[in-house]
Amino acid sequence: MAEFDVDLFVIGGGSGGVRAARIAAGYGARVMVAEEYRMGGTCVIRGCVPKKLFVLGSHIRHEIEDAAGFGWTIPQATFDWPTLIANKDKEIARLEAAYTANVEKSGARIVKTRAVFEDAHTLRLATGEKVTAKHVLIATGGAPNHGRMIEGIEHVISSNEAFHLPELPRRIVIQGGGYIALEFACIFAGFGSDVTVIYRGDNILRGFDDDVRAHVRSEMEKEGITILTGCTIEKVDRYGDEYVSHLSSGSSVASEKVMFAIGRHPNVANLGLEKASVAINPSNGGIAVNAYSQTNVPHIYAIGDVTHRLNLTPVAIREGHAFADTVFGKRDVKVDHADIPTAVFSQPEVGTVGLTETQARAQFSRVDIYKTTFRPLKATLSGRDTRVLMKLVVDGVSDRVVGCHIVGDYAAEIIQAVAIAVKMKATKADFDATLALHPTAAEELVTMRTPTARHVRQAAE
Ligand code: NDP
Repeated sequence: MAEFDVDLFVIGGGSGGVRAARIAAGYGARVMVAEEYRMGGTCVIRGCVPKKLFVLGSHIRHEIEDAAGFGWTIPQATFDWPTLIANKDKEIARLEAAYTANVEKSGARIVKTRAVFEDAHTLRLATGEKVTAKHVLIATGGAPNHGRMIEGIEHVISSNEAFHLPELPRRIVIQGGGYIALEFACIFAGFGSDVTVIYRGDNILRGFDDDVRAHVRSEMEKEGITILTGCTIEKVDRYGDEYVSHLSSGSSVASEKVMFAIGRHPNVANLGLEKASVAINPSNGGIAVNAYSQTNVPHIYAIGDVTHRLNLTPVAIREGHAFADTVFGKRDVKVDHADIPTAVFSQPEVGTVGLTETQARAQFSRVDIYKTTFRPLKATLSGRDTRVLMKLVVDGVSDRVVGCHIVGDYAAEIIQAVAIAVKMKATKADFDATLALHPTAAEELVTMRTPTARHVRQAAE
């Protein structure tokens, strides 16, 4: 009889856990996956996928507005939120079923229940059943974090609820200046809501290149979104169907919905981690892991948002795959977390890879900046008041392009391809040697000849 019931027990059926389960099963491992909610996890069920569907839907407003300059007469367009929600839900259900089918096809078994550690090798299911496992993978993801308990916090929604609102709010206040706050601000504005963003710092998208931050803010403001910086929401009062957010600045904003998008916390609570002696990383609250996603308990691993490293779906998938290759495929695979492209699906989008100008200047003695902003061709006829930003950050000594930052339509699509060049350590000369594809916005990336700024750090005397 086998020593353990299964070779691998995966807690969490999100993108990372599912990838690990399928690959491990492919190597012949006996795998069980526990999921207490819906297969697919944050990305599929209440993250990337429904969010992108919302982005696509709300962007249609721009297409309708832009059409007149191209000769189209479009009768008064109307938007029906419940139709979007119903169609989105149908697609998410289809994807969930596909995730489930793919896991089962791989030979892994799904149990639709919460699983918690009884000891380092034993998981207890909500049914009371106990399962022993040779290896355990914790892939429980993260959840919205509302921060400190302010008065009226019970009135505040997160992105989880935003995906299921019965009706489109006419006015919404969103606190936060990161990915989720800006993506939802633009989504709601696109559908016609009056949107106010409340951000505690001096400008949104902290950590992104400063030119990107300024550009996105000005583009969002041009679309009618109010962005109030240097303040926080201190209290939310309810008056019937209306809420009033009281700000630290002393002013207040009324709306039908108040949403917080002020970060997410790793799902580490009530998993019985202490019974398995799994350690938490004190610096970020996630499960502490090494470069192989291995915890302090050698047969227990953790991947994705629960480790609070880089909270991006493709990162979790890559970590899950690397784990399965290493442990069950007997191949030594580590995930390289450098130069990971990322996008904020604001409108316009942000696409970025590599270092910001500030980071590059801290790292290299000579940094050349190539930057351009321009009116996209479409805007010449549509009349839309918008500009595209493209920026290359170059190590002036090696000539390597160490960062690329784009704000504009299709920035995410463009940056995915640029990321290959950056990952291959392409130089500015390689970019220059590449012929332009005309007429596109992306051709600017290979036609910027003269640096717009050159920063040379003087050697310390
Ligand atoms: P982010 O970390 O991106 O942004 C959090 C924002 O909230 C920041 O502006 C932060 O300000 C602010 N904030 C944090 N704490 C407080 C507080 N106590 N009071 C007021 N403001 C506060 O988190 P999100 O929730 O937007 O998203 C979580 C993560 O999910 C992202 O970091 C990303 O990894 C991932 N994600 C990725 C997406 C994509 O790839 N397109 C889309 C959505 C999410 P400050 O900057 O000052 O700290």
